Amino acid sequence: MSNHATTKKASPLTGLNLTFLAPAAGDAAAVASRATKPEATGAPVAARVVIVGSGPAGLTAAIYAARANLEPIVIGGIAGGGQLMITSGVENYPGFPDGIEGPELMALFRKQAERFGARIVDADVDRVDLSSRPFGLWAAGVEYRAQTVIVATGASALWLGLESETRLRGRGVSACATCDGFFFRDKAVAVVGGGDSALEEALYLTHFASKVHLIHRREAFRGSKIMQDRAAAHPKVEMHLNRTIEEIVGADHVEALRLGKADGSGEETLAVDGVFVAIGHRPNVEVFRDWLATDEKGYLTTLGATTASAIDGVFVAGDVDDHRYRQAVTAAGEGCRAAIDAERWLEAQAPGPAEASAVSMPTTAIAATGSRP
Ligand code: NAP
Repeated sequence: MSNHATTKKASPLTGLNLTFLAPAAGDAAAVASRATKPEATGAPVAARVVIVGSGPAGLTAAIYAARANLEPIVIGGIAGGGQLMITSGVENYPGFPDGIEGPELMALFRKQAERFGARIVDADVDRVDLSSRPFGLWAAGVEYRAQTVIVATGASALWLGLESETRLRGRGVSACATCDGFFFRDKAVAVVGGGDSALEEALYLTHFASKVHLIHRREAFRGSKIMQDRAAAHPKVEMHLNRTIEEIVGADHVEALRLGKADGSGEETLAVDGVFVAIGHRPNVEVFRDWLATDEKGYLTTLGATTASAIDGVFVAGDVDDHRYRQAVTAAGEGCRAAIDAERWLEAQAPGPAEASAVSMPTTAIAATGSRP
């Protein structure tokens, strides 16, 4: 079993027979050298738009910003591609009536962004300074100076928080069926969670496992009805409702689950070879935490009907500010909106740096009317 399934350096394509459409090695090197060239001299890289994140939101923002001749730089993360890189069949992204694998869809996004000149840097942002413009961002030892920033850092998988879960991660515990399902051919596995992710992972695992136990702490699932029906009807899937995970049992590999009953009527043990945790996500806000406001769930907030943050020139898009919809298509839509907002904001600064403050368009001016859902 891969020990890398849920780390930053995961190779989500492992085990998949995909046509990956990211640039060929030569092209990628050319893109990287353009983006990181100043590292040798230590000079900052200036950009009109820096996009942080390379999921559907970030890459859609890149496509729109590139087509607006803003020459965006995408600091896309070491792994890059966002949640779809660990998602199997995507059946609800418009334009793909037969469905498409998540990584393949993201490779297409990337190819489209690069076609219009977006420069994609496969590095994590370590630090930002949004106190004045141009904004400062640091990644892989390179300083970027951006007139506008689009934050599209997405969200990451949550874990149960059990000691046994941490100890056995990569030894039968995973948060990525696409990465690790292959290792459980003809074995019994468990999926934990009650949302669409858990239902989707459970169904995906039926391609490999002999048995898939779906364990949820409540009586009812919160995932979509169609996915619930599919899981319930699948002969390999067995539902265990009102059950909590007390312990993942095993010394150096997963052997069983110790389950608690929600009504407190005791415990039971379920023999499994693997456990897939699919209990939701946490927004990736760390490097922006000191600068941008978050809501009670920790997601970034925007002002009014646009993607503008409270800092003029900084925009937010995708799952990092959306705990309601969290779909690839809604994230892509937000990326589009953020690029248009950034473009309009830059236009409002057009007379030049000396006069910029005189014409600086307050965030509230582009925040138009209405409010986010
Ligand atoms: P989610 O909808 O937030 O569901 C998380 C589930 O995990 C909930 O059932 C929750 O239980 C359970 N859970 C949370 N913490 C837990 C813990 N500590 N122990 C045990 N169970 C725990 O997350 P998601 O499934 O990742 O979906 C997120 C969004 O993405 C949703 O809008 C979903 O529709 C969407 N999505 C769509 C697709 C698709 O359309 N193909 C695929 C995946 C996700 P409670 O119910 O008790 O809160």
